Amino acid sequence: MKKIVLLGSTGSIGTQTLRCCENLGYQVAALAANRNVKRLEEQARHFLPSAVAVSDEQAYRSLKVSLADTGTRILFGMEGLCELAALEGSDILCNAVVGMVGLEPTLAAIRAKKTVALSNKETLVAGGELVMAAAREEGVPILPVDSEHSAIFQCLQGNACNTPKRILLTASGGPFRGKKAAELEDVSVADALKHPNWSMGAKITVDSATLMNKGLELIEAMRLFSLRPEQIEVVVHPQSVVHSAVEYADGSVIAQMGTPDMAIPIQYALTYPHRKPTSARPLSLFEYGSLTFERPDMETFTCLKYCRQAAEKGGLYPCAVNGANEQAVALFLDGGIPFGQIGRCVGHVLEQMDGKLPAEGRYTLSQVLDTDKAARELVLDFCGRTAKM
Ligand code: MG
Repeated sequence: MKKIVLLGSTGSIGTQTLRCCENLGYQVAALAANRNVKRLEEQARHFLPSAVAVSDEQAYRSLKVSLADTGTRILFGMEGLCELAALEGSDILCNAVVGMVGLEPTLAAIRAKKTVALSNKETLVAGGELVMAAAREEGVPILPVDSEHSAIFQCLQGNACNTPKRILLTASGGPFRGKKAAELEDVSVADALKHPNWSMGAKITVDSATLMNKGLELIEAMRLFSLRPEQIEVVVHPQSVVHSAVEYADGSVIAQMGTPDMAIPIQYALTYPHRKPTSARPLSLFEYGSLTFERPDMETFTCLKYCRQAAEKGGLYPCAVNGANEQAVALFLDGGIPFGQIGRCVGHVLEQMDGKLPAEGRYTLSQVLDTDKAARELVLDFCGRTAKM
C-alpha cells in the first residue's frame, strides 16, 4: 500500500485520482485544493488525511472551523502546499493543480525524494529544465499523468537501449476543429467548454479549444523525454483512441491506445511499473470502425504555432507563453476578452519579450517566477485591464 499526497484534489484529475486510490487501496496521506471548501471537507471526512491545505485564505479559515473535530491539520498557501508535497512518510506526490502554482510544490517533493505523478503540465512548461535537473540529481522519477505523455512513456518501456527518433503527439482537435479564425473570434465560454471526448476542468478545456494545450504538451514532452521540438509531430486524431506514439530508428512506430478515460494514465502513474484493473471501458475498435488523422491548422490555432516558436527559442520563452496564456484564459473565462484574443495575447507576449529572455537552459526559480509575472502584466496591459486577478 502506498501513501499518496494529492494536490488539486477537488478538480477533475484530483477526483479521478481519489477513485484510483480507493480502487487500489492506497492511503491518502494529505489533500490540497484551491478554494472548493465543501468538496475538500467531504474528501477529508472520507479519506481521513493527516493534513489538508488550501490556497485561499477565506477557505482556510472556514476549514479550520468545519474540520475542527477531525484532528486533521489545516495548512495554507504556497508554504502549505510545499509542506504537504514533502510530507514525511508519503511515497508519491500527485500534482494535479492547474497552472504555474504547481512548480514550487513539485520541486519540494523532488528535494524530499518523493516520486512525482505529474498532471500539472504548466510546471514542466514554465520550469521544466529546473524540475528535470532536480529529479536527475535526486534520482526521483517523474511519472506523467497527461494521457499523451503517459502513452509516450508506455511506448518507451522496454526500449532503454533505443533512443526515440520521433514522437507522434496526438490531439483531438478540440470542439472547434475544422473552423476558421473568423468563425471563432467571438465564440462563447459555454461553447469553448464543450469538449468532444474528454471531461476536464475549465482551464484545460479552453486550452484544448485553442490548441494551446497541445502546444504546452509539445513542450512538456520535450522536457520529460529530452527531445528537440522538431522531433515532435502533432497529429490531429479526433477519436482520441491513439493517445500518442513513438517512432524508432528502424521505422517501427509503437502507439498506445485505449478508450479516452483518465483512469488509465492516472493509475499507471500510481502503480508503475505494474498494471492493475481500472474502471475504464474496454476498447472496442469495431465500435469506432475507423480512426482518422490530419494535420493541425496552425493559422487558425495560433497558440500552437506560438508554443512551437517558444519551444524552438527554449530557455524561459515557454514560461512566457504559458504565463500569457494563463492570464488570457482567466480573462476569457471572466468574460473580459473574446476567444480570439487569447491567441493574440500569447503572440503579443512572445513578440514583446523577443531577445529579452535567457534562451539557454540555465535559469533560476526566481527568473521563472519573474518571467511568468511579466508575461501576465503584458497581457493585462495589452487588453487594457488592471491586475485584479
Ligand atoms: Mg493531454
